[in-house]
Amino acid sequence: MDSFKETGLNDEILKAIGELGFEKPTPIQAQTIPHLLESDQDVIAFAQTGTGKTAAFGLPSVQKTDVEERTTQTLILSPTRELCLQITRDLTKYAKYVRGLAVVPVYGGAPIDVQIKALRRGAHIVVATPGRAKDLIQRGRLLLGDVRRLVLDEADEMLTMGFKEELDTILAETPEEKQTLLFSATMSRDIRNITKRYMHDPLELATAQKNMAAENVTHEYYMVSARDKYEVVKRIADVNPTIYGIVFCRTRRETKEIANKLMTDGYNADALHGDLSQAQRDEVMGQFRKRQLQILVATDVAARGLDVTDLTHIINMTLPDDPEIYIHRSGRTGRAGKSGTSIAIIHTREVRKIQDIERKFKMKFNRASVPTGKEICTNQLYSLIDKMEKVEVDESQIGPFLPEIYAKLEWLSREELIKHFVSTEFNRFLAYYKNARDINIAARPSRERGRDDRGRNSRDSRDSRDSRGSRDSRDGGVTFARIHVNVGSKQKLTPVRLIGMINEALDSSSAKIGKIEIMQTVSFVEIDEAVAQNLIEMLSGWKMAGIPLKLELARQQDRPSRSFTRGERPPRRGSFSGSSRSNRSGSRSDKKSRD
Ligand code: AMP
Repeated sequence: MDSFKETGLNDEILKAIGELGFEKPTPIQAQTIPHLLESDQDVIAFAQTGTGKTAAFGLPSVQKTDVEERTTQTLILSPTRELCLQITRDLTKYAKYVRGLAVVPVYGGAPIDVQIKALRRGAHIVVATPGRAKDLIQRGRLLLGDVRRLVLDEADEMLTMGFKEELDTILAETPEEKQTLLFSATMSRDIRNITKRYMHDPLELATAQKNMAAENVTHEYYMVSARDKYEVVKRIADVNPTIYGIVFCRTRRETKEIANKLMTDGYNADALHGDLSQAQRDEVMGQFRKRQLQILVATDVAARGLDVTDLTHIINMTLPDDPEIYIHRSGRTGRAGKSGTSIAIIHTREVRKIQDIERKFKMKFNRASVPTGKEICTNQLYSLIDKMEKVEVDESQIGPFLPEIYAKLEWLSREELIKHFVSTEFNRFLAYYKNARDINIAARPSRERGRDDRGRNSRDSRDSRDSRGSRDSRDGGVTFARIHVNVGSKQKLTPVRLIGMINEALDSSSAKIGKIEIMQTVSFVEIDEAVAQNLIEMLSGWKMAGIPLKLELARQQDRPSRSFTRGERPPRRGSFSGSSRSNRSGSRSDKKSRD
């Protein structure tokens, strides 16, 4: 289907979407819109964010609304407040030329009275989050007796977020005779159950994008040491001066750390995570939408419902365990005909995850090389020159200063002048990347890659496990740095716990660890010098027993009276809980803590 006209949409709507720049229907729209306009049969559609699904159910819902009636005729349920507002914004735009049509969003975390008033004024289409919808139903404020269409948007997300009970309550309030539309990116058993319970003879629509990576997204991965992951993010940002993307992190802590580092390093970035208040989240999302921020560092949960088009890059700091989540993330770029790049920054043991995604979604990742200093400088230079060429010159503002400036620069030729200007802007950049090292990990032969797949027995994975429990002969070549930590056994720090924290902070279990010394209130750990600074930065600020961790390189005289060597048997919990003086194993405190 080449044009929206053929779908059966009326002139008011065609005019509105024409103004939005919609030229031809996306595959899901081409299938859904004609069906919904002509038939009352229920529909299950597999569609992710970015496929144009909102218009697929929104345009027919707008067209089929009888504005003469004041009742609620369409109820759209969405998992998050952000998505709820996004759908409302979109539908309001589609209805620009439909006089009198009211679309009302109701969602949690906002005053309910205002929403009740809006509902009372009349709401033809209500877009709701499940919790608030249930609340309003129970207060007798959301009346669903005249609903003809029920849309469950991102049904899989609603179930994942635990809204099953709310859905049951809400669906029980709607009339038996209605059309139910279910949109979901995935088809789990729970979704199947919902469709069986609440839908009648549904038509299943799946476009070419069913459960598949969007076609116009390029998938790349960089293989580096865990300690270099942040450097890769920086280089990606630097080699793409006009980047507009999301960096996905696993935890709130990681999100904050990466965002803070980027901001400190002068990038136009901010964090979006669950520790922010709703107002703070709205502000960050607003700035990102307006492109006042180029890079948003976010967790999956916090980024739900953030609808931003034109993203150039998705960066995965860590690959999620579930391949579906990767596809969700990457589907945020390459939308509506535009191309995008989804990048995974992995270390050797994550190759298996890449292969899982490739297998499941029948797509390919390209292994890319981390941009070199030279590539970055070249891109930045050309971008700067481009910016300089296109900059708007406001003669009236700078005019009065020019004679003096001309006089001062008279001694420079045109070529020299250009060199001076470019250097002014660029010297710091050139200096940073002048001796940039190659941080790619060399590609391994495919035979070894295969062995890695089988897990424990592979040479690579065995090596990294050994480094936790027994002396690794390769340690011989490692120079260790000794780090002082401001907590000890009193704060329930144990060697095992410390190793766990180190692994989490470095996002790897392959960093070489030497002696660990746990005393009552302080501890020492030896760690590969190459990652020491990174570890200090990553762990500082974490809390243990309410104490903010402070790590620093130990001074020479900081010598404790006893030590634990990682090469020995892995210690049991509590086995080092003595003071620095009572250093015989099996001391009273040892026994007590083992009991
Ligand atoms: P959605 O999947 O509903 O989140 O839509 C993704 C983005 O694509 C939104 O910004 C829409 O405005 C845009 N969009 C939807 N349909 C079309 C279309 N037919 N042509 C161009 N852009 C579209």
